[in-house]
Amino acid sequence: MGAMQYGVALLRSVSLPLLVLASSACMKPAADARANGSWAYEVEAPATGSRTVVVEATFDNARTDRIAIGRESASFVREMQVKTPNGYRSVARKGTSWVEPSCQRHCTLRYRVDLGELAQGCGDDVDCARRVGEATLSPSLAWLVHPIPKTDVPVDVHVRTPNATQFISGMHGSDESGRAFTFRSYDLDEGSFTAFGPMRRYRVDVPGPNPARIDVAILGKVQYGMPDTAMRAWIARAAEVVKPLFGKFPVDRTTLFVVPARGEDEVVFGKVLSLAGASVVLVVGDKMPATATEQDWVLVHELFHLGFPTFRGEGRWLGEGLATYYEPILRARAGWTTDAEVFKQFARNMPRGVPERGSASGLAQRSDLDSIYWGGALFCFAADVRIREETRGRHSLDDVVRAALERGGDATKVWTVAEVVHLGDEVTGTHVLSSMYERYAARGERIDLDGLLTSLGVDRGDGSIDLANDKPLAWIRKGIIAGPNAALAEAPKRPDVPGAFRTH
Ligand SMILES: [Zn+2]
Repeated sequence: MGAMQYGVALLRSVSLPLLVLASSACMKPAADARANGSWAYEVEAPATGSRTVVVEATFDNARTDRIAIGRESASFVREMQVKTPNGYRSVARKGTSWVEPSCQRHCTLRYRVDLGELAQGCGDDVDCARRVGEATLSPSLAWLVHPIPKTDVPVDVHVRTPNATQFISGMHGSDESGRAFTFRSYDLDEGSFTAFGPMRRYRVDVPGPNPARIDVAILGKVQYGMPDTAMRAWIARAAEVVKPLFGKFPVDRTTLFVVPARGEDEVVFGKVLSLAGASVVLVVGDKMPATATEQDWVLVHELFHLGFPTFRGEGRWLGEGLATYYEPILRARAGWTTDAEVFKQFARNMPRGVPERGSASGLAQRSDLDSIYWGGALFCFAADVRIREETRGRHSLDDVVRAALERGGDATKVWTVAEVVHLGDEVTGTHVLSSMYERYAARGERIDLDGLLTSLGVDRGDGSIDLANDKPLAWIRKGIIAGPNAALAEAPKRPDVPGAFRTH
């Protein structure tokens, strides 16, 4: 969206000879960027039978003497030392951070983190560290200390693996070795998932004019209710489910970590960490059979996230709302579920996202999970219907999502909600997103979900649903399920009731 986003897209499309020519012109800014500082990490993966990561971190021009790490990890960082001309000396801890004056200009710190202790301390939460047999999963930010406050500098991470320990990371590779990674310091707000120890690794290729690659790591030595071949086939098919919306699989490369949920027969959790490089965790019930994969919503929801930009400190309702709205629709478009099931889910769950009467706070101010997921999904649903209605089926929310990705907005990039809203108005030629943002996200107006469903011909009985085709906007309901190619064909020649759905 901004100049930077266009710049990135432009660079990627430049052919190789041009890139070589251009590189001399880029030398000066690149040198200046390094002069502003840099972070470099040498990481020693845990030896077999251990979960302790040993890290040597070099900070250039940090312009601060404070070094920190996430609150949960802080008490598991051991033996923090700084390199001096006379060997290493201890660095004093102050609360959850350390103070080392030499880091203002240049310092090399050495420390160790026992990820087993960390996992035990945080209840094996995947956001912090999780043990799977002898393997350990954690976001890289769980073991990379850093200067605070952060400045925007390049980060390099190199991982050594003693005695052939297995290791894989979703961090953005700087070469094909799988051991060297690079990203920007602010990306460490998210990090990427990383695993050490025993795992079964597979490569899933997503074919097409823009081929993509999913590196799958099934952690530990767990046997699941489906063979690994079925697990791989499921992931490959789920990639095909999200492809038509985006026109391609959203990112060139991602790493997907499978960890078990003991005794469960479905996926119980999923999460994307993407700023330092796209990565996905899927917590799969070890009793889940291959026959249950099309009913699962989590994998498609997470893969959708890969195709939309990340928001920082705002917009969680929009990111989760889009994923929640599109997941059943994409599965219906692929034949994994039915249109009746999609609207039944919407009718049942979207009331959870409607603010209580008398509440004046808009989506942007609400932080409860129902508002974020279902309030966000309801916003997307209403916006999609309104765009289709105003443009007589020529445009839809699909166009907004696809345009964001075409302009470089995948999950590894940070955009603002304002940029998405602006793009939405631009590509649909309407003011639907900006006016809806104002009313429902900035201010706390309520979306009339019942009126919306009725206008689409969604009739609710006792736990069942009837889809009626004689309602003014039934063609929009069909268009949503049919997908991008069929929407126009479904629009009636003349609208019987202009503006049948009003977003009050
Ligand atoms: Zn999500």
